[in-house]
Amino acid sequence: MTWSNWQVAPFFTSVFFVLGVLALYQLTFNGILFWVKWQHLRISETTIRTWYGILYMVIFVVALQSFGDSANYPWQFMNFQIIGIIFCAYFLNIKLPYYLFFPVVLVFMTLNQSLGYWQSWAHAITLTLLFGALNLIRARVKQRTAILISYSATGIIFGGLLWLWMKLKFNFSWQILGQEWLYLTIFEGLLFIYVNMLTQNDETKLQLTKFASHDSLTGTENFAAYSGAIKQWFEFSQRKQRPLTMMMFDIDHFKIFNDTYGHLAGDRVLQQVAMVVQTVLNENDPEVKLYRTGGEEFNILFPSYTVAETQVIVTQIFLAINHQEINFGTHQLEISVSVGVSALTTEDATPLDFYNRVDQKLYHSKRNGRMQITY
Ligand code: GH3
Ligand code: MG
Ligand code: MG
Repeated sequence: MTWSNWQVAPFFTSVFFVLGVLALYQLTFNGILFWVKWQHLRISETTIRTWYGILYMVIFVVALQSFGDSANYPWQFMNFQIIGIIFCAYFLNIKLPYYLFFPVVLVFMTLNQSLGYWQSWAHAITLTLLFGALNLIRARVKQRTAILISYSATGIIFGGLLWLWMKLKFNFSWQILGQEWLYLTIFEGLLFIYVNMLTQNDETKLQLTKFASHDSLTGTENFAAYSGAIKQWFEFSQRKQRPLTMMMFDIDHFKIFNDTYGHLAGDRVLQQVAMVVQTVLNENDPEVKLYRTGGEEFNILFPSYTVAETQVIVTQIFLAINHQEINFGTHQLEISVSVGVSALTTEDATPLDFYNRVDQKLYHSKRNGRMQITY
């Protein structure tokens, strides 16, 4: 067996071909995602997944059609095309409405010169229904066994119908129909297993990342996350000459809560402060992130903000915390914070230089009687 004399059954070749096509999708998708994050573009992962998924599958389907011997075996790549559509509809969960999906199929039929055949119309309608059914299953069915049953049943029934239309159009034998239908069913099963393996891997990674980058007491991002973020924003702001502002705050006389009411009271204060600040940020700009960088010390990064532009949010946070009354048992705890705010300058050679200047401002607030902001 050589490259020019390939004697592996086409079925096995096609299994690896399909897996290769999916792996290449995943690889290139991760590359795009990495680039988008690196550039700090405001495009959601779902948007990229949808549009890149459609583009990738359209190229895949059209390329296949043009490679093959479509004069003698016009149906030869149909299983790949159906698998491509299942991948988009179910696994990428692209929600293409019927009125958009059907025109796409029509364009494909025109290219295929099959507009004059009733069987091709039946095929097009069946594909549209398959797309809708898979979208629906993905959205509604949550229980594992139910997913398995509904996915398999949809694949088998629609697959059989699609092949039936093609048999009636091209008049090939029932044996070919049975064989192709069986292959399709096996491919659908493989696709299911393969994609589930990939996503499970992604979910585990996501959980681990969250665990490593979040503080378990307050749920905010932790020092490790801050270190990563400041490095990225520092580099980005210098490269693009964009402003970057940092706010640091520290709870005043926090030790007294611990010493007077116990450690749990201190914990309660920290949770409440983090929650209040997060609420203010969510209302103003979700791109602005809060980090717990020390025991009772927090840090907020304002990408693309000058100091003047942060003032409204900084003041809101300051007032919100200082007006908090925290109930702990029968006690009411009153808290305040000291704040330092500063922007990145061209003299900052490293993120640490920047951090130290903001720290100095915070220290200034502490020394001058606490409960104040130093810009
Ligand atoms: P200052 O106004 O100068 O900031 O005084 P302070 O009492 O807030 O500062 P100090 O640094 O003296 O005390 C901070 C305390 O925070 C000491 C430490 O035990 C406590 N602490 C650190 N992490 C936690 C935590 O997760 N939970 C609780 N309950 N206390 C914590
Ligand atoms: Mg303190
Ligand atoms: Mg402190």
